[in-house]
Amino acid sequence: MPEDPDKSDCFTVEGKLALPYTYFAGKVGSKFITTLRDRKRILGVKCKACNKVFVPPRQTCAFCMEDLRENWVDLKNEGEVMNYTVVRYDDKHLPRKAPFILAMIKLGGADTPLVHILEGIPPEEARIGLKVKPLFAAETTNTILDIDHFEPVE
Ligand SMILES: [Zn+2]
Repeated sequence: MPEDPDKSDCFTVEGKLALPYTYFAGKVGSKFITTLRDRKRILGVKCKACNKVFVPPRQTCAFCMEDLRENWVDLKNEGEVMNYTVVRYDDKHLPRKAPFILAMIKLGGADTPLVHILEGIPPEEARIGLKVKPLFAAETTNTILDIDHFEPVE
């Protein structure tokens, strides 16, 4: 094993890049977003081979590589927090001012979690297992933020 190189002459510069971009969401991603927008429904795709339901939907099963494109399923507009974090810094790309909760939410009928904003409770009251429901945005942005946020079910 070579010894660690002497780093005393290494020079680094720290900075930040702003990187605006546009990309095609694809056939699957487009149907997911337009259904959110037009029907206020969250769609997943189900694998006919292993029965796993993916959300956000994907074109191919992550486990058995089956084509999932035409096997849409409606998910429940209710789910459970699987895990979460509290975002404690502000940045231009973030959807909310800090502090806010980002949660991994497993919707009824899905096998994979959707990551989204959790509101309606202070960060210290977030917990795994909390039952939550989506609140849809009043105006569309044609993004995942057509779900404005999730909040606890009363
Ligand atoms: Zn599969």
